[in-house]
Amino acid sequence: MKIVILSRNAKLYSTRRLMEAAKQHGHEVEVLDHLRCYMNITSMKPSIHYKSRKIEGIDAVIPRIGASVTFYGTAVLRQFEMMGVYPLNESVAISRSRDKLRSVQLLARKGIGLPVTGFARSPDDIDDLLNSVGGNAFVIKLLEGTQGIGVVLAENRKAAESVIEAFLGLNANILVQEFIKEAGGADIRCFVVDGKVVAAMKRQGKEGEFRSNLHRGGSAELVRITPEERSTAVRAANIMGLNVAGVDLLRSNHGPVVMEVNSSPGLEGIEKATGKDVASLIIKCIEKHATKANTKTRGQG
Ligand code: ADP
Ligand code: MG
Repeated sequence: MKIVILSRNAKLYSTRRLMEAAKQHGHEVEVLDHLRCYMNITSMKPSIHYKSRKIEGIDAVIPRIGASVTFYGTAVLRQFEMMGVYPLNESVAISRSRDKLRSVQLLARKGIGLPVTGFARSPDDIDDLLNSVGGNAFVIKLLEGTQGIGVVLAENRKAAESVIEAFLGLNANILVQEFIKEAGGADIRCFVVDGKVVAAMKRQGKEGEFRSNLHRGGSAELVRITPEERSTAVRAANIMGLNVAGVDLLRSNHGPVVMEVNSSPGLEGIEKATGKDVASLIIKCIEKHATKANTKTRGQG
């Protein structure tokens, strides 16, 4: 097969591992920087060009689109879909997962366990919003933040009010969540490929940090997950429409709650913590599904 990886940098661990695995499985693979792809959107003849060359004959595309370039990256991916190329994760599913509010709404609709979450726009509604979320401590999140940036813990109600006021004053869209204190600054990353959790790790924030993101200095170790955690992760990925997803769970007093579903989960942390060859499992998933130019949406919607 001819596989394209959409990635800004071929030297990144995840990109390198996917290239290696694709080659090992006998495929041709090329990394394209999505910001250098340009498109001709002529009726019935969609095409993609890259550095003066027309991209043709591709069987599958692996999107590794960073959060800061979601808009352009998903447009390029949609163009591949319109050309009938199989996307490992579809553009629509990636857009869903990048919006934290949309994600929790989709998951809530299907009964997935979530931290109690509120959303408001007017400062006049903060008081009642905090009442409805309940508790004393709150986590406030920018809707499009990533890597722990834009996630704030307000340890009491007064602090929550001022943080929310400040964010709303800047016209930011935010979520307010109950603080799952019992998680103890740790979360569980379940790596889902093709409807199965293929690897799981526990990430622990550094001393005094409630955010477990590895980018914020957290550390990772292999963990055994419960059947309930496993099925929650698989269902969450499925609801978002992602073949490959990093589903982050918190262990709360009322069972596993999904914090977020990542559509371009990094391979470095999970492969090093678990010793699993996740890259090969991703290539196998493509081999299984790409044969039929199997896109659900073909760039629609
Ligand atoms: P990001 O997209 O920036 O990673 P997350 O929603 O994953 O944002 O939050 C970052 C980290 O903050 C999580 O990995 C988790 O450790 C912690 N966290 C987030 N929400 C909660 C919550 N409701 N209760 C307790 N800890 C939380
Ligand atoms: Mg996160």
